[in-house]
Amino acid sequence: MAQFWKPGTEKPEAQVVDDEEGGVLFIPGASSFSSSSSSGYGYASIDKQRQRLPVYKYRNAILYLVETHSTTIIVGETGSGKTTQIPQYLIEAGWASGGRLIACTQPRRLAVQAVSSRVAQEMGVKLGDQVGYTIRFEDVTNQDETVLKFVTDGVLLREMMNDPLLTKYSVVMVDEAHERSISTDILLGLLKKIQKRRPELRLIIASATIEAKSMADFFRPRKKRREPENDVNGLKVEPAILSVEGRGFNVQINFAEEPVQDYVQAAVSTVLLIHERESTGDVLVFLTGQDDIDAAVHLFNEEIQNNRKHSSGLVVLPLYSGLPRADQELVFSPAPRGKRKVVISTNIAETSLTLEGIVYVVDSGFSKQRFYNPISDIENLVVAPISRASARQRAGRAGRVRPGKCYRLYTEEFFLNHMSNEGIPEIQRSNLVSCVIQLKALGIDNILGFDWPASPSPEAMIRALEVLYSLGILDDDAKLTSPTGFQVAEIPLDPMISKMIIASSQLGCSEEIITIAAALSVQSIWISGRGIQKESDEAKLRFAAAEGDHVTFLNVYKGFHQSRKSSQWCHKNFVNYHAMKKVLEVREQLRRIAQRIGLVLKSCESDMQVVKKAVIAGFFANACRLEPYSPDGMYKTLRGSEEVYIHPSSVLFRVNPKWVIFNSLVSTDRKYMRNVMTIDPSWLLEAAPHFYKLQQPNLLH
Ligand code: ADP
Ligand code: MG
Repeated sequence: MAQFWKPGTEKPEAQVVDDEEGGVLFIPGASSFSSSSSSGYGYASIDKQRQRLPVYKYRNAILYLVETHSTTIIVGETGSGKTTQIPQYLIEAGWASGGRLIACTQPRRLAVQAVSSRVAQEMGVKLGDQVGYTIRFEDVTNQDETVLKFVTDGVLLREMMNDPLLTKYSVVMVDEAHERSISTDILLGLLKKIQKRRPELRLIIASATIEAKSMADFFRPRKKRREPENDVNGLKVEPAILSVEGRGFNVQINFAEEPVQDYVQAAVSTVLLIHERESTGDVLVFLTGQDDIDAAVHLFNEEIQNNRKHSSGLVVLPLYSGLPRADQELVFSPAPRGKRKVVISTNIAETSLTLEGIVYVVDSGFSKQRFYNPISDIENLVVAPISRASARQRAGRAGRVRPGKCYRLYTEEFFLNHMSNEGIPEIQRSNLVSCVIQLKALGIDNILGFDWPASPSPEAMIRALEVLYSLGILDDDAKLTSPTGFQVAEIPLDPMISKMIIASSQLGCSEEIITIAAALSVQSIWISGRGIQKESDEAKLRFAAAEGDHVTFLNVYKGFHQSRKSSQWCHKNFVNYHAMKKVLEVREQLRRIAQRIGLVLKSCESDMQVVKKAVIAGFFANACRLEPYSPDGMYKTLRGSEEVYIHPSSVLFRVNPKWVIFNSLVSTDRKYMRNVMTIDPSWLLEAAPHFYKLQQPNLLH
């Protein structure tokens, strides 16, 4: 079992690390640090709780700054009350009177849901009445009543298509600005433009660790000589900056002494050790995504079954986006008396959500990040080291209620030499096709000349324009085509998926393709995980189609329908019931959008050829060919010759057809294609002649 080095004592001479159990030896870091905090809540009334938050002391200052400045930048540690309190202060001060609305944006869907439900609870109203939320495919607001709307930043961008100046809103609070999500950055650029036309619109930019000065520089208007310095209509245009000071508790940092082999296993044994040796207090574990979180939960369950004494008293809960509502609530509620809660989370708990009662943090040092290579035109999700700024944020979660401890599953050397100081804004590591369409739909033509908080690379921009041109979404003048380009802009999905839907309307298989699009919009329709792999693979075979995952989705959907949407049927077949319910919901919404934009809803019955053609119409750029004589099933993308493999979750895993296309890539040790379909290469030329012209000789073999 793992051993810990008691901080403050001499370094022990010889300690045995039992690698087989994934044990980790920790040493204390050079320094501990303070994190802001509000003291424990006990059973205080909601009003008392609100008043104890650090932001409360700044209530009047915030309201004054918002009254007198166009833009107010508020920096405050996670948990200080920015998200839940400031919108309420604004309502109390009358910003939502006279039919005006307040918007608060979040980069993550789960945060939008959790935070709006907390605020509704604090205000004593039903979620969806006065306080509501909108995320893609889910609108819990009421046109007549809602005055405070929590939205993802992507949703607010979409609202601009119908109301470019956001005239409904008196204040827009862009929250979590330090995350620098791609939609946040686009939104900031657009809001700056709106302010020129609507100076009365107030902006609040809130963040945990933002470079407040660079954000202020961005919002500071360029000086024109003859104009008086400040003031449009008595409003100061110079952004105000306010820093919310929290009370701090020390967080003691411990680093792994040696690099760990398997951070899932290491995280589990570290939690067990904390449970065995440390006093009460909940544990927050940072892993990277649903797959490794599920794996960790499974290991805990095994441990709890096999070793009751060691692990009794542990309540282990996962936290990631896409988690069903009831499970989300469990995460926020206190553990039963005498139990220790262990929450295993993605980086959603890094700054977006605050869990009370956390005293110990276990940090894997990794997160899933999007990376885009404009040369190969490949974007994939990579498990990559977090930045030092993120590592500090994660550690800070341990110091909210009392002094805490953070166990980093990486060495101090790794922290210092292999983690970057700050993360890179998402816009500089993403494929830009969606971004380009959204800006074009808003009438912004000179995209490179757009006022970005951080400029995207010209190479990535050129690639995006090229892909959109070959999809028939942009014309020779780089304007949206009519109707395809405008229709694609109306569908809130990846443009390749939207294009596939539009093609299906012409091919007469839109009912099937909309089902596929809905299935692609959920994480996975399968239940998987360590320990049940064999059973779930066998279950999958019952539905597997020779054409690949897309047609397999159709088979599962059909079975689910025939079972009258039974949860037992799902359970028996290792199908994720919650995901299927989501698929149904998304499907209905997509049908409505399709009708609105004039697409024909039609089923092709069992003609899978047309279904495949529609998929290719969207995804021809992701075509790959099996390398001859490759024993381990290596493919190369037609463009860029990147080495890729079929993901083990695909029904085509180990089948390895010669020609395939895929929907997305994920990277771990290799680049894996997710959601794979067999193709006939001649269809590529048919679907995108200009795109594949150069590769033509290659295609004929
Ligand atoms: P910030 O935005 O500054 O990070 P928040 O406004 O999100 O802070 O959180 C303020 C406080 O409200 C936190 O101490 C947190 O415990 C509490 N809180 C927020 N959301 C919830 C929730 N869903 N359930 C219970 N408490 C919550
Ligand atoms: Mg917040």
